[in-house]
Amino acid sequence: MPDTTASDPPDAASERMATLGLHNFETTADATARQQQLVRGLTRAGALGGLIRGLAKCTPETCGLSRCRDGCHEGQRRLRAGLIPQADHLLRAQPGPLLSVTLVHPRWEVPYEAGPGAISIPAVKQHVKRGFMRLTAKSGKRPTAVGAFEVCLNRDADGTKTWAGQVHLIVAGATRDELHAALGVGKRHPLPPYAKPLVVEDVSNTARQQAYALKRYAEQRIAYLAANGRQARRHLPLDARDQRRFDRWLCRLSLGERVILVGCKRLNGQLVSVAP
Ligand SMILES: [Zn+2]
Repeated sequence: MPDTTASDPPDAASERMATLGLHNFETTADATARQQQLVRGLTRAGALGGLIRGLAKCTPETCGLSRCRDGCHEGQRRLRAGLIPQADHLLRAQPGPLLSVTLVHPRWEVPYEAGPGAISIPAVKQHVKRGFMRLTAKSGKRPTAVGAFEVCLNRDADGTKTWAGQVHLIVAGATRDELHAALGVGKRHPLPPYAKPLVVEDVSNTARQQAYALKRYAEQRIAYLAANGRQARRHLPLDARDQRRFDRWLCRLSLGERVILVGCKRLNGQLVSVAP
């Protein structure tokens, strides 16, 4: 699968995604509209002038900043347009079924006041890396995985708000049981009874699942008691103020800083397997 190049028509990426079964990939017009909204929000929040001027100059092809930020919608779209088809190609070339993994950890949850920046992304990546090293030590297998770290805003039934991180990965080359044994949180970290620290599911469409894992969007998850008496969560967009806070955090991260790669790396913009 070729990568998107600058000579492609602007929405070639959306057409290419549609051939992979991803029909709602954002258009260049979507990214531009979101960028304008971002610039307005950052201006209102009193962000640095250089950042605002740079983001305002970003286009579908080039970034107005010397180093693009993870908050930049144009940069995010370019990153996703390259990475999603490459990951689809690389993962489907591996033997065995593809599994989607969602991983949370109590240490990735911080008080609302602290903000999402209080969660250490290097520590999250280290945790994931150690899990896969355990898997290799036990099974001799070297899985390939592509995904990202994301943050949402949790609101508990008592009104307490926390920023909570989670990792979404698409994994090839490991079984469900191996993933559960290697990536589980362990008994050292007590979790509330409704929390599911690790969810492993089948993947029906890699590109769609990858797009979900690599999304820029954040939401709030509001706890409520469902009719069956169990705790459930309603998913809503962030409030304007929290959205601005989230955007400012993303603008402090380098483009792609939340991406997590296992058994592969990006070399000159191409995703390649790391030979064992
Ligand atoms: Zn940019």
